[in-house]
Amino acid sequence: MKINILQKGFNFSQDGPGNRLVYHLQGCNLHCPWCSNPESMAFEGGTETEISDLVNEAVKAQLMFFDGGGVTFTGGEPTVQLNALKEVLINLKENGINTAIETNGTNPRLPELFEYIDYLIMDFKHHNSDNLKEFTGIGNETIIKNIAAACENGKNPLLRIPIIHGFNSGAEDAENFSEILKNYKEKLRIEILRYHEYGKDKWKQNNMEYTMENAFVDDEEFENFCDILKSNGFTLIKT
Ligand code: SF4
Repeated sequence: MKINILQKGFNFSQDGPGNRLVYHLQGCNLHCPWCSNPESMAFEGGTETEISDLVNEAVKAQLMFFDGGGVTFTGGEPTVQLNALKEVLINLKENGINTAIETNGTNPRLPELFEYIDYLIMDFKHHNSDNLKEFTGIGNETIIKNIAAACENGKNPLLRIPIIHGFNSGAEDAENFSEILKNYKEKLRIEILRYHEYGKDKWKQNNMEYTMENAFVDDEEFENFCDILKSNGFTLIKT
């Protein structure tokens, strides 16, 4: 079986614990207009790689996995290649390698992977399904189910909320996020990521139109959003 990889490289601290070999898989089922890796959205492209080759590469790299490191799969959206991803995760665990995935949480089969994942990073971009669908193409029902399933299965995800002015950054939004997540506040750690434009040039390079405007979140809005989550009992972290 093969897995389609956009790019790979080592990264420390942002994609799970320690020093990690990070594979960006090709293809995403969402179309977020702020995406910083727009070249990863298309399902064509990338490099088809034998799973056995990837596993051998990770095994050979084990000396580099210091400070609790290992292998992370991100994207694109890694779960759009779920069968291949599952196979590779099983093989990595058989070799004693720490595994992490960073997912948008939309795949209803995500819980199949839980027993092979040591560290789960999930996005939760909007509390309102219609708003999420309008901006990205998919609503949030499955994401919420997967957050619940992860918490109930002891996978206690790191939840990343990208806050974007005009999309989800208001005080009412912070209260609505809190309401949806209130049953899991002891199990979740939340990272709030402020909107940035790091991917803007890549949109042009890939002949894609960058449509985001007036999306920066100022300090006051950011602090207010964080304060509401904290006052509602959530643990915020920065990786
Ligand atoms: S889910 Fe992530 S990779 Fe996919 S389009 Fe959105 S930001 Fe980009």
